[in-house]
Amino acid sequence: MNANNNEVVALHGEGRLVGCSSDEEPGAKTTIFSQNVIPNQLVSNRSSEFIHRYFPLTTLESWNDWKWQLRNALTSIEDLKKIMNLTEKEIMAINNLKGRLPLRITPYFASLIYDSKPGHPLRRNVIPVVEELIETSSEQSDPLHEKSFSPVKGIVHRYPDRVLFTVTQICSNYCRYCTRSHSVGKLDKLGRQDFERAFNYIASHKEVRDVLISGGDPLTLRDETLDYILSNIRSISHVEIVRIGTRIPVVLPQRVTDGLISVLRKYHPLFISLHFSHPSEITEECAKACNKLADGGFPLGSQTVLLKGINDNVATMKELMHKLLMIRVRPYYLYQCDLIPGSGHFRTAVAKGLEIIKGLRGFTSGYAVPTFVVDAPGGGGKIPLLPNYVVEHNDEHIVLRNYKGVLCEYPEK
Ligand code: SF4
Repeated sequence: MNANNNEVVALHGEGRLVGCSSDEEPGAKTTIFSQNVIPNQLVSNRSSEFIHRYFPLTTLESWNDWKWQLRNALTSIEDLKKIMNLTEKEIMAINNLKGRLPLRITPYFASLIYDSKPGHPLRRNVIPVVEELIETSSEQSDPLHEKSFSPVKGIVHRYPDRVLFTVTQICSNYCRYCTRSHSVGKLDKLGRQDFERAFNYIASHKEVRDVLISGGDPLTLRDETLDYILSNIRSISHVEIVRIGTRIPVVLPQRVTDGLISVLRKYHPLFISLHFSHPSEITEECAKACNKLADGGFPLGSQTVLLKGINDNVATMKELMHKLLMIRVRPYYLYQCDLIPGSGHFRTAVAKGLEIIKGLRGFTSGYAVPTFVVDAPGGGGKIPLLPNYVVEHNDEHIVLRNYKGVLCEYPEK
């Protein structure tokens, strides 16, 4: 049986929707869940148990429909309390979010954390704690000064040959450490005229050969809107590559539909930068979504923010990088956490990132080692950092330390 099959399959528990703003889509038939008939390739055991407990009348079709997932996202304390026990620190933080990055968690992602303890890495990604309300003087709402590099709404032009195009402020989940927490989640939509101005800006800057479409999360937009954006960018002859930055396979893998792939495939070469923070995010659903993207011919890279207590050790990072390679995602960047307001509880020392790179390089495949970067505060751009492998360097020679600590000499002449 698959998600397109409308047969009734079983019934457990009372017919009740929890944390939902709507029930089934008009016309949808009722599919009722049972552990032994839900196909693993569509809904993991973990998610099926969650559905069975909290969305017992929801059909497989609905659960696997990304629009249903967005409509039924958990956005309040009341929604969360129906599926999990919140701590005082979490409740206090959620109650004080006014004007800050909102709370939003898809039912799919909720199924990964509903029975978790407070320190669980995936839970910390999406549920605020009271430390988020503490700001320090080194933090800024726009630490990368994107506003001052924005010639027209939606465009950030910092580097010589490429632009960032933030096409939406909406995400399906809001990550508590988001660099763009100053703008993400706000109702500041680009209108048709804004899009036209952005296309015109790119068209009139012949040096722009690379456009990174980001947000918010661009894949929360409808296929038709993505088609409109991509066709306009692709019609500009000097744009060589287009990239999409998204966290969709992690938070809403149901969005990776055949229809989406068909739209995106029209615009090769199209690279997709995915955002992962922990190996537990790589579920069956996530792997399926990534494989589907890889089969669509999109080179996939990953970006990971170094987060205290979530992924700040060699073992976790190595496991994440290995799992990414297994789903055909090439580790790309490891970011030092940006200085956004209330991020102190997430930030590690820069030395921690260097220690992790040192623990990866040489000890595992080079493909599994991302580039560690600090996105310089004030808009200085990404600066790569490496552990110190150079012991001595002069006109005669360079003395290097290898991953085992052994010194090696290489002549300069
Ligand atoms: S998905 Fe990206 S843009 Fe959206 S909240 Fe997370 S980090 Fe920010």
